[in-house]
Amino acid sequence: MIHFVGAGPGAADLITLRGARLLEQTDVIIYAGSLVNPALLDYAKAGCEIYNSATMTLEEVIEVMKKAEAEGRDTVRLHTGDASLYGAIREQMDRLDALGIEYEDIPGVSSFSGAAAALNAEYTLPEVSQSVVITRMAGRTPVPEKESIREFARHDCTMVIFLSTGLLEDVSRELMEGGYAPDAPAAIVYKATWPEEKVVRCTVSTLAQAAADNQITKTALILVGGFLGSEYERSKLYDPSFTTEFRQASHSE
Ligand code: SAH
Repeated sequence: MIHFVGAGPGAADLITLRGARLLEQTDVIIYAGSLVNPALLDYAKAGCEIYNSATMTLEEVIEVMKKAEAEGRDTVRLHTGDASLYGAIREQMDRLDALGIEYEDIPGVSSFSGAAAALNAEYTLPEVSQSVVITRMAGRTPVPEKESIREFARHDCTMVIFLSTGLLEDVSRELMEGGYAPDAPAAIVYKATWPEEKVVRCTVSTLAQAAADNQITKTALILVGGFLGSEYERSKLYDPSFTTEFRQASHSE
């Protein structure tokens, strides 16, 4: 059995209990060494075989899984954050299907949740934005034109931009071309939940400068939108004048 496990955003105790138990019990771990905190490998039992996938191809990863399976041993494939985002798990699962090898996927805390926590922020503020766009700039992996940052920026909603720290001039330009004001609030969160975490608040037009000033070149998320500002409406759910399924209004307006 192969267990795809979301490692969480960095801090070793932000993996799920289920993920940690699997790490403790498994015979083989293949971890995404470029981003997974190596402290998570401390959960492994003595004698566990450990591979860093940063230096491996998909074929090599599958070969390790295949061999473990043939020997009746369990494998944990440890991906950063939650594996459903930019995790390249589908291509592994399709090959495992073809080989008739069983697998399961254990969700993790994504770095976009880690970044919100680092900012003490709520992405979905009433009357500000009720939607979060998770996207990236095109790099070696292309992004369809209809999903460009410029196109999404037209919605003026909360945006979380992955994998783009090296392209901040372009990110700023696209955001502004899409309609964000140059002084609209933005933030960069570097290594959310790691001990070396950095939180930098800036504006849409100063993203590249803010990253340079703080020596941030990778492993960061770019956050953009009115949720970083001070204006919003309070929630209906906790408003005394509203009746909900669980609570009677204390007075009416
Ligand atoms: N599956 C992961 C994302 C993998 S893509 C998740 O759910 O978080 C890798 C990108 O994620 C990095 O380039 C960076 O943009 C972002 N990232 C991963 N961990 C991060 C962290 N702790 N803090 C900020 N950004 C992070």
